[in-house]
Amino acid sequence: MPESIIQYARQDISAADIEAVVGVLNSDMLTQGPAVPAFEKAVADHCSAPYAVATNSATSALHIACMALDLGPGDLLWTVPNTFVASANCARYCGADVDFVDIHPHTRNISLQALRSKLEEASRKGRLPKIVVPVAFAGQSCPMAEIGALADEFGFRIIEDAAHAIGGRYHGQPIGSGEWADITIFSFHPVKIITTGEGGMAVTRNSQLAKRMARLRSHGITRDADLMEGEIDGPWHYQMLDLGWNYRMTDIQAALGLSQMQRINEFIAHRTMLADRYDTLLVDSGLTLPQRDLDCASAWHLYTVGWNEERSGLSRAEAYGRLHDAGIIVNVHYIPVHLQPYYRRLGFGPGQYPNAEAYYARALSIPLYATLSLAQQDRVVSELRKLLGQ
Ligand SMILES: *Cc1c(COP(=O)(O)O)cnc(C)c1O
Repeated sequence: MPESIIQYARQDISAADIEAVVGVLNSDMLTQGPAVPAFEKAVADHCSAPYAVATNSATSALHIACMALDLGPGDLLWTVPNTFVASANCARYCGADVDFVDIHPHTRNISLQALRSKLEEASRKGRLPKIVVPVAFAGQSCPMAEIGALADEFGFRIIEDAAHAIGGRYHGQPIGSGEWADITIFSFHPVKIITTGEGGMAVTRNSQLAKRMARLRSHGITRDADLMEGEIDGPWHYQMLDLGWNYRMTDIQAALGLSQMQRINEFIAHRTMLADRYDTLLVDSGLTLPQRDLDCASAWHLYTVGWNEERSGLSRAEAYGRLHDAGIIVNVHYIPVHLQPYYRRLGFGPGQYPNAEAYYARALSIPLYATLSLAQQDRVVSELRKLLGQ
């Protein structure tokens, strides 16, 4: 009998989740009903942050976060190359320019040293970024306190891309608490920590930013009489104050998210247990294992190893193929964003961010998700060891 396929990531949908979605389908409001604010409140409470704005994706949330911070043509946004393209694309949607800061070779998050020296150079040239987007890679926070201090010194705003990281902690506080970032973004794509099918959220302590983002996700329209200009025609009146979008999350999705939030601590605990177990089972394998920052408790979206070509006699591509043949669907995170054809056309190219490029050359994300069993994990470890000649 062929053994079952093990994905690198997948959702965990319970009977209660299904019931919650069916409840909305049987209700009057499939969208713009009560489930969206209830889900927003659950996420805000989880993060100890006062405001949360749900969107139809994290990509949309990044876009309206940039807009709320007035990013526009002539402005500059910095992020890292070791991320999904959306962390950089949000600037391009606003007509702004993108530049990248290399990663730390161990944490694979933004390098503080590279950030400081690039800021000093940019300050001399009078071309400082308006926004920096640190990415909590694999679920582990960036050094946000230090980045916050640099933001004060050099005058930029922070959008924390925590698409991987809802449920993680930094200095004991939930990621998204807003202590160190102007806005924090989460993703609810099915491979992430909790899911709404597609969906995202922007979390902030700043009520003005929250109001602007809520308006921008719904065409830039307000029904608040205090914000309207001129005469109000009647109780039906709304006004479009800015050019916004339809980035709304449906109630169907929000009900799923709200139900998933009830198990977020379980999800994180299981992922953490599996990550600890990978650390133990692979300690002497010759693979480079993820390095932990002691200020952080990772949400463990990904468990990413550095492949060992010397020990196995196999290239990373060969290892990837052999694992897929064995039913272990590993993945690679991330192809450095600056090497994508679109960004090469903007002038970026190989050799510019050596740590991100060196990390990518060996990266493999091995299976990690809330329903991965210990027996499945053992199978992953034994297939890896087989390839490593162990
Ligand atoms: C998944 C992801 C996004 C985009 O999330 P969507 O909800 O799919 O739009 C953005 N940034 C990072 C780092 C991601 O992993």
